[in-house]
Amino acid sequence: MKAKMIVVAGAGGFIGGHLVGELIRKGHRNIRAIDIKPFEEWYQLFPEAQNIKSDLKGKSACVRACRDASEIYNLAADMGGMGFIEKNKALCMLSVLINTHLLQAAVEANAERFFYASSACVYNADKQVSEDVVALREEDAYPAMPEDGYGWEKLFSERMCRHFREDYGLETRVARFHNVYGPHGTWDGGREKAPAAICRKVLHAEATGNHEIEIWGDGKQTRSFMYIDDCLKGIDAIMHSDILEPLNLGSNELTTINGLVDMVEDIVGVKLKRSHNLDAPKGVNGRNSDNTLIQEYLGWAPGIRLRDGMAKTCAWIREEYEQRQAASTVAN
Ligand code: NAD
Repeated sequence: MKAKMIVVAGAGGFIGGHLVGELIRKGHRNIRAIDIKPFEEWYQLFPEAQNIKSDLKGKSACVRACRDASEIYNLAADMGGMGFIEKNKALCMLSVLINTHLLQAAVEANAERFFYASSACVYNADKQVSEDVVALREEDAYPAMPEDGYGWEKLFSERMCRHFREDYGLETRVARFHNVYGPHGTWDGGREKAPAAICRKVLHAEATGNHEIEIWGDGKQTRSFMYIDDCLKGIDAIMHSDILEPLNLGSNELTTINGLVDMVEDIVGVKLKRSHNLDAPKGVNGRNSDNTLIQEYLGWAPGIRLRDGMAKTCAWIREEYEQRQAASTVAN
């Protein structure tokens, strides 16, 4: 088991980097870690893995990536928070090339299992119009009206996984991640998501003494956020399960964005004057994960408290911020 070749696509990214680390901690040594970014931009780089810089949109790159592979985890995508996906719909949809070519290469390599990282953005927008949410069940993805661009790509790729399983016998598994956060992820530059962006803004306000914060939208929009350790546990459980349909992988601890700002202010120990940018991208009004199915199938669901995860995330962003501040490159 320890000798099987495991491929992690998107290993230079947030979740992919953590996944490689977790596989190594579990004793795997035959790991191929691939990302399009230059190595110095990978969030985590492990010398124990075979690290490769490659653009997985191309079929031949995917064939090389999957050679002798027995398990393939596809965490590669051109993505970011709402600010990025609302303005880069074509780019987001081009990630369909990565998953499609990886699936083809996986079949050609006779791989055993294939994991696809889908998203809560596949859910029908009509089910997410109120902040007073009813948590999303897996069946709520249809009839289809996902997030434009990014969500359509995810829904289509989920379906590709299903048909590759049905038609070619590749054991595909799909998880719909709901907002994953934690250390070693994007925290500035335009692709960051709300938890990291709020940590950075609060830390910046504390460091500069300018005790103000801009919040995207009215801050009443509701979300749940899953800490990376829960995400890794869920990926492993889903990948090695018999669950054939896409499954929610998210926390069901609901918060408003204003509530998340309160929490980070409390962790950092400051109180800020708030302004709300009502023209900024803010996504759907409300979204939560219904964890009935994952609980039923796996006897487990993500449970790390938001406050605990945010304290660790904030501590890591503080270190990064202070390093960059020393080089005077921190964006406000
Ligand atoms: P990330 O942006 O940190 O990582 C994705 C990685 O894929 C990046 O390092 C990027 O360079 C790489 N990549 C992009 N195009 C590539 C290509 N052509 N060839 C090779 N590598 C390429 O994102 P993440 O948060 O780690 O997300 C991982 C996966 O989980 C993605 O599929 C994402 O859509 C999905 N997801 C994430 C979240 C979340 O909250 N983080 C939520 C839902 C779904």
